[in-house]
Amino acid sequence: MSEEKKYTFENPEYRDTYRHTVSHILAQAVKRLYPEVKLAIGPAIETGFYYDFDAPFSFTQEHLDAIEAEMKKICKEKLPLERFELPREEAIKFMEEKDEPYKVELINDLPEDAVISFYKQGDFTDLCAGPHLDSTGRVKANALKLTSATGAYWRGDSNRKMLQRVYGTAFPKKDELDAFLTAQAEARKRDHNKLGRELEYFTTVDSIGQGLPVMLPKGARVIQLLQRWVEDEEQKRGYYLTKTPMMAKSDLYKISGHWDHYLDGMFVMGDPHDEKSECFALRPMTCPFQYQVFLNRQRSYRDLPMRLGETSTLFRNEDSGEMHGLIRVRQFTISEGHLIIRPDQLEEEFRGCFELAKDMMETLGLWEDCSFRFSQWDPANPSNKYEGEAEQWNEAQEIMGNILDHLGIDYEIGIGEAAFYGPKLDIQIKNVFGKEDTLITIQIDMLLAKKFGMEYIDSEGKKATPYIIHRTSIGCYERTLALLIEKYAGALPTWMAPEQVRVMPMTDRNRDYAEQIKSELEKNGFRVTLDGRSEKIGYKIREAQLEKVPYMLVLGDKEEEAGQVAMRDRKDGKTTVMPLSEFIEKLKFEVDHKLK
Ligand SMILES: [Zn+2]
Ligand SMILES: [Zn+2]
Repeated sequence: MSEEKKYTFENPEYRDTYRHTVSHILAQAVKRLYPEVKLAIGPAIETGFYYDFDAPFSFTQEHLDAIEAEMKKICKEKLPLERFELPREEAIKFMEEKDEPYKVELINDLPEDAVISFYKQGDFTDLCAGPHLDSTGRVKANALKLTSATGAYWRGDSNRKMLQRVYGTAFPKKDELDAFLTAQAEARKRDHNKLGRELEYFTTVDSIGQGLPVMLPKGARVIQLLQRWVEDEEQKRGYYLTKTPMMAKSDLYKISGHWDHYLDGMFVMGDPHDEKSECFALRPMTCPFQYQVFLNRQRSYRDLPMRLGETSTLFRNEDSGEMHGLIRVRQFTISEGHLIIRPDQLEEEFRGCFELAKDMMETLGLWEDCSFRFSQWDPANPSNKYEGEAEQWNEAQEIMGNILDHLGIDYEIGIGEAAFYGPKLDIQIKNVFGKEDTLITIQIDMLLAKKFGMEYIDSEGKKATPYIIHRTSIGCYERTLALLIEKYAGALPTWMAPEQVRVMPMTDRNRDYAEQIKSELEKNGFRVTLDGRSEKIGYKIREAQLEKVPYMLVLGDKEEEAGQVAMRDRKDGKTTVMPLSEFIEKLKFEVDHKLK
């Protein structure tokens, strides 16, 4: 970091220090206005900061406005921030006297030898490890904003009290704040959890449960199109399709290790602690199921690589507080696959997995939003987390590093972030709000084959253990749909649009002609609806536009007599008259080439 950038937001440490100072100003303002409110914690986050409060009332917009005004005052008071330390007993007494039970709990939970530090600014002192700006006067009063208040459990624990989390953000300049707020407003319009419901892609139903979205016909259609496409592309690349059960007895999960390490994350049928009765669980992953395909008969080196792909529904029993739209769910479907390979095939097969994923993301238009993380083992700390020999790890990582360098992609290295069985590449993607998630992962596994007794006869007639690549090519379909809705603001490219054409007769007289056009388009494989309501044509067009239908065909007497269609394009709102055959050709081209 160059000297002149040290005190700008280009330096993430400075940015966090700045915003964390603003969170103290928020807490100070709250205590000045509402002394009865108790303080919890207030960190900086990627988009700003928050503070959690225990208040006997709910924070409304009026409260937020009043607090924000008080915060601006505190900035102008230019209060110096002074750090001091207290021994544990005194620190506890200090916070007990202030009647701050959450702070007392935090101090009690600090390790025995921890330095307990406080920051004081004017009439306000907070327990805090720092660092901080040296004065509230360094915060630009006109470039801070409180954005919302929501509920949040104390320490993220649903058994503890629900507190109120006030979010805000702050920048060094007002125009930066304005640009951020505009971008956030735009992102909210694209939010799949809002837009996806409005456009009727999916819904959720209380009696079904959280994290279990119901796909409506549009969402179901897009997912079907994506699945067919992925399965076809995999077939072209020599994959075998498998279809394995969605549940298994505990026996299988005991071999895979899930029973010991992941039981809480699984949906179990029966009592897992009753040794005498048989117990089943829904699958959280496909690996041990697909391995059975390999194990079905004796394999030779000539059978490898064996590329297995499955459109696989998985179940994970995650906390209901974490559920969000199509992104945090308890049941999802993933383009799962395992490549069982000889060690000498690792390079070529890994590259094949990467290229498949890249092709898919490029076609979807998501590649430009992707970044890469190469998760490696920690050689300084080899014994407690990782299995296998250092030699195997080094070889696999070297091969992976070479491939990534050859591909010319920029990647971050995550030391100590590998799976216990091998290194992996995570393809990360940012959503419209800038939140990053893993979409695709390609993992090298040098160990699990042995655990499952998988072997092949090598070219010298000896038994050998294969490597496995765990990979997805498009990730989880629900999440991909969410990303697509956000990326295209609901206006999906024609090839994947659930409804491609809407036919609209001008009057009842043109109804038969409209039916005829619709059925001709359907015969050509297009997804078409007919709006035969006796509404004004302008009204119907507006509605189709709002529903993001790529093409509208308006059919009146003129078009009928000439045997033509008047095609209105969603993109520019322009209408062009042409013979139906020409429209079909145009549509075919667009769909066949998967144009964006
Ligand atoms: Zn602090
Ligand atoms: Zn796997």
